[in-house]
Amino acid sequence: MTGSTAATFTADDYRARMERAALEAAEAGLAGLLVAPGPDLVWLTGYTPPAVTERLTLLVLAAGQDPVLVVPALEAPDAHRAAGAAALTLRDWTDGKDPYAATAALLGVSGRFGISDNAWALHLLALQQALPGSSYASLTEALPMLRAVKDTAELGLMAAAGAAADATFEEIRGVPFAGRRESEVAADLDRLLRRHGHEQVDFTIVASGPNGADPHHEAGDRVIARGDMIVLDFGGLRDGYGSDTSRTVHVGEPTDEERRVHDLVREAQEAGFRAVRPGAACQDVDRAARRVIADAGYGEYFIHRTGHGIGVTTHEPPYMIEGEERPLVPGMCFSVEPGIYLPGRFGVRIEDIVTVTEDGGRRLNTTTRELVIVE
Ligand code: ZN
Ligand code: ZN
Ligand code: ZN
Repeated sequence: MTGSTAATFTADDYRARMERAALEAAEAGLAGLLVAPGPDLVWLTGYTPPAVTERLTLLVLAAGQDPVLVVPALEAPDAHRAAGAAALTLRDWTDGKDPYAATAALLGVSGRFGISDNAWALHLLALQQALPGSSYASLTEALPMLRAVKDTAELGLMAAAGAAADATFEEIRGVPFAGRRESEVAADLDRLLRRHGHEQVDFTIVASGPNGADPHHEAGDRVIARGDMIVLDFGGLRDGYGSDTSRTVHVGEPTDEERRVHDLVREAQEAGFRAVRPGAACQDVDRAARRVIADAGYGEYFIHRTGHGIGVTTHEPPYMIEGEERPLVPGMCFSVEPGIYLPGRFGVRIEDIVTVTEDGGRRLNTTTRELVIVE
């Protein structure tokens, strides 16, 4: 299936999202939301400006008010074509005019506003001056679950992105590894993800041998050799929704220890997945996966949280981490990705995107989690 998210969602979908965001903001004690170009704006309106520049583009949401998109006049025609445009008012401003004063006038009173994490400091500082006495909160911190629960159409796009990542793995396991640089395999991953419909590739980790012990190793010049364990972790956006999967492969026959560590991570990943059900806390997923690894004596080598949410970005709340007590809700999508990292030697990580269902969880990645032997 192809096509853009703009074709999938209607003005009514965007209207409902904006209404809910404004409502949740009010419930969180905020006077409104200020949404800059980026994932929140895409999710709320379907609009991505032609370029993010010093000219202010800002969606203003407040409970009981019509949504208004403040937009540079020269970009208003583009904004007008966005799928969500029918659900909001465009307020364009021309060069030489003060868009911050106009925004302040829209907001009316000073108060506490949620603002996109990625809003430019330039814009926030000017807003602070235009609205003395107002204060600001990170939109993601104030409303962490705003985008967390996906609707049916979103779940369809998430599944398609997962299937494309799986198709990428099925092809990459057949390419030659030994004798090639990590960066060459990473280029293969990039090409395959795009061939399977991704418009954006966020990461193509190829971490061979000792590099595998570094969870976010960037593919580099190391030449892959026989005997290497290799952590592959790749994903991006397909039709606006994210994929992210990890598999660990081995070049030729593994040692008993390599097999044992891989089995352990597979068991931990399975335990994390089995902990997924509505009402369980996010931290329960982390605890379930971590317990398997700790009980086997490798606890100190599992050095990151078990998972992160995914949607219109590839890393977002909810986080599967100790201390995160928010409950899992059907429709949430996140990774379950335990790993073991043995410094100077090798690493293993296995990652699937999982969505919460009414009675448990469903994996959006279904390639084998057994240790795959490559050439
Ligand atoms: Zn080996
Ligand atoms: Zn990943
Ligand atoms: Zn991940």
